[in-house]
Amino acid sequence: MTRLGTTQIDLDGAWAIASRFGAALPIGKDPIFESGFADMLDTLSRQRIEATLFVVGKDLSVPWKRRLVKTAYEEGHELANHTMNHYANLDSTQASTVAKEIQKAEERIRTITGVKTKGSNASNAWKRLDIRYMEQS
Ligand SMILES: [Zn+2]
Repeated sequence: MTRLGTTQIDLDGAWAIASRFGAALPIGKDPIFESGFADMLDTLSRQRIEATLFVVGKDLSVPWKRRLVKTAYEEGHELANHTMNHYANLDSTQASTVAKEIQKAEERIRTITGVKTKGSNASNAWKRLDIRYMEQS
């Protein structure tokens, strides 16, 4: 099959979205991962789409979320780096702190894939961070 494009999906859990609005939700109780994740994988499979999934490292600390992400990887989707904590203000954060956010997530993702991710999507800081991260690859 000829590839005509790419599909990139941010795996933002409910806690990450809520935090954007100043609300706090538990990371282990997450309706997006509980039902939406399986629906997403089913849709991708039916459409024969291999996507790049941007994973927030913090979610991999929850065993059942980790299993879902591992399943996605085993089904052929690429895992990429969406930082450790999905902070909303990374564009105004010191570069060294942002680098740690990326490195910590990288380490967690690598425990699933065994290989270095090819890219990152660092929330609002992507303009200055993706380039640096990609250059280190
Ligand atoms: Zn996100």
